[in-house]
Amino acid sequence: MTLFGAIEAGGTKFVCGVGGARAGSRARAVIATTDPAATLAEVGAFFDRALEAHGPLDAIGLGSFGPLELDPKADRYGQITTTPKPGWSGVDIGGWLRARYGIPVAIDTDVNAAALAEADARGVSSLAYATVGTGIGVGLVLNGTPHLGTSHPEAGHIPVRRHEGHSGFTGICPYHGDCLEGLASGPAIKAAWGASLDRLPADHPAWAIEADYIGQLCASLILMVSPGTIVLGGGVMQQARLLNLVRAAALRQLGGYCPQWEAAAAERISMPLSGEAPGLTGAYLLAERLAGQRDESDAP
Ligand code: ADP
Ligand code: ZN
Repeated sequence: MTLFGAIEAGGTKFVCGVGGARAGSRARAVIATTDPAATLAEVGAFFDRALEAHGPLDAIGLGSFGPLELDPKADRYGQITTTPKPGWSGVDIGGWLRARYGIPVAIDTDVNAAALAEADARGVSSLAYATVGTGIGVGLVLNGTPHLGTSHPEAGHIPVRRHEGHSGFTGICPYHGDCLEGLASGPAIKAAWGASLDRLPADHPAWAIEADYIGQLCASLILMVSPGTIVLGGGVMQQARLLNLVRAAALRQLGGYCPQWEAAAAERISMPLSGEAPGLTGAYLLAERLAGQRDESDAP
């Protein structure tokens, strides 16, 4: 029985598992993200215990918060780069795992891992996964493959058209002020209105404004990438009523220009399907793909 390791490395927590994408996790741990040394010590302790209990792993998949250097030719390949998270810039989780366990480690962004899991769950080859939480990030699967480009897309930081009800709010992105993340992330909602959406009444303007921004993101993704499906995850999207507002806002933005989306917005813009955290399932898939490639290239 082939066994894989998976890590969804987040800014607030690391979710670690041993198992497989289809079978799920045999062992699982949630570890708070503190400083790198303490966090990785706990991650190592989890995998040490899991190896002892369940046997060797073929590969580990890692879906990580970033920004990450993912150009294999770069000196800093695999490292977290310009994160504002104290102590984490320059940390190479994948390299550390490879050295510790001597097995292949696949690394991608947390959102690409989640996109891979959602594409797999739906049996589709093109999908965008957006998380709207502490930050906003978008992962893309195109032609069945997680898309990286030069490093990886940062669609959370696209410029958006400011909603007229939001004119007094300058946005909180330290790099851009009023980019999408600066206006529509969970902390941006709190900065603008003093509370998260779950604490604001249904007729509060924050709902329509948030839906407008996430709708603009969906419209931009549709116009630029033409994914078959857009999946919206993250803490802010836990507010189920937001989804319909976002669909309507996306169609408004498109202005009747993309009829295939008008007809099917309810299916094409949707919530995650993955049972486990999509990022963890995606991390298993990254590991399985890497092991599969290795097997093929090893074949005589
Ligand atoms: P992270 O992005 O750190 O992985 P989350 O996706 O849970 O974590 O996002 C956290 C953000 O989402 C916070 O800003 C919080 O205010 C907001 N949030 C979390 N849960 C909810 C909820 N149930 N309803 C509305 N907003 C939420
Ligand atoms: Zn920004």
